[in-house]
Amino acid sequence: MKNAAFAYIRSIGSNLKEMSDKIFDNPETGLNEYQASALLCDWLEQEGFAIERGVGGLPTAFRAVYQQGEDGLSIGLLCEYDALDKMGHACAHHLQGPCILAAANSIKRSDISKPFKLVVYGTPAEETVSGKIIMLKGGCFQDIDVALMMHGGATTTVDVKSLANYLVEVEFFGTSSHAAIQPEMGRSALDSLLIAFQGVEFLREHIPDDVRIHYAIRSSSDQPVNVVPDYAKALFSIRSNNVLTLDAVLARFHNIMEGAALMMGTKHTVTIKKQVANKIPSRRLNQVLVDNAKAINAPTIRPPRERTGSTDFGNIMQLIPGSCIRVAFVPEGTPSHSQGFLDAGKSEAATEAMIVGAQVLAGAALDIIQIDGLWEEIYQDYEQEKNTLQKEVIN
Ligand SMILES: [Zn+2]
Repeated sequence: MKNAAFAYIRSIGSNLKEMSDKIFDNPETGLNEYQASALLCDWLEQEGFAIERGVGGLPTAFRAVYQQGEDGLSIGLLCEYDALDKMGHACAHHLQGPCILAAANSIKRSDISKPFKLVVYGTPAEETVSGKIIMLKGGCFQDIDVALMMHGGATTTVDVKSLANYLVEVEFFGTSSHAAIQPEMGRSALDSLLIAFQGVEFLREHIPDDVRIHYAIRSSSDQPVNVVPDYAKALFSIRSNNVLTLDAVLARFHNIMEGAALMMGTKHTVTIKKQVANKIPSRRLNQVLVDNAKAINAPTIRPPRERTGSTDFGNIMQLIPGSCIRVAFVPEGTPSHSQGFLDAGKSEAATEAMIVGAQVLAGAALDIIQIDGLWEEIYQDYEQEKNTLQKEVIN
């Protein structure tokens, strides 16, 4: 059965290339992906999926459903299609939609005896506003048991962990006065910010090793040097492998900001701009994808990556097991968001990556639906990792 699915995927390779080239040639940044979204929806609709356009409060998000029987496992297949501002498709998101469509349709066409459901989610704006987080708040992803993705890369691999990342904006409001004539009337917002930075530096020594905190001054009142600054703003990024650790650190961060305001007699606000969660390791699920990649001789297979950056896929993986197969299409060592990715965007290797990615995901989904006990194993492993992360939090 897998062979039939794989053959179907390969047979539509030129259609996939046509679609990905179109998306590549018309790069659309986050929340502007109207053409890409319409292109993918039209194809799915034509193939018999029930389409809902503009889900989760995002006009360029979509959901496509196919169901066989009742109460089967619900397989989520997620794709991104946003480009980078000014750079175009330098993260290869143009390959994801066509790849996911091929995987979904090959499963739909397979002769599966058990009941199952396929839900394809188009997830906009990964690079900018983290569309999946907005979609989650809008009620999406509640209807899937597992989330699968594909991403072009320099090696074929899967990720184990990703960093949770809180983006926090802090503003201090002081009182300006003449710094030489009436300094006693002034309350410096900039002083508060400097003390806040100091507080964070001291905090660093007493938090878990994997926590990273960096900050940048975003603005201060544009006043002459002889005027006490009445405004200062900074952006902090606080990261960890465990979002629960971040919650604990954030409580202490709030105290530091409050203290900095109290000491200088200023007022302050703390605004959480974005809360990207970490991936909960889904090692058993990863293994299913890697086994399928090996079985079809995917290019440049490397061991799973233990450390990676932050992604909104992590927020979905707080709910359900998930895995993303990264498929090699650029030379090993080529970083994403680079000219190398752009140059290879319409290459033969890019088409091959879509085919391989679709075969890996279709193979994995067929395994999960059909092999007795496999889903239970995957879920138990995921639950265990989730418990471990809960236990390791130090308040
Ligand atoms: Zn990307």
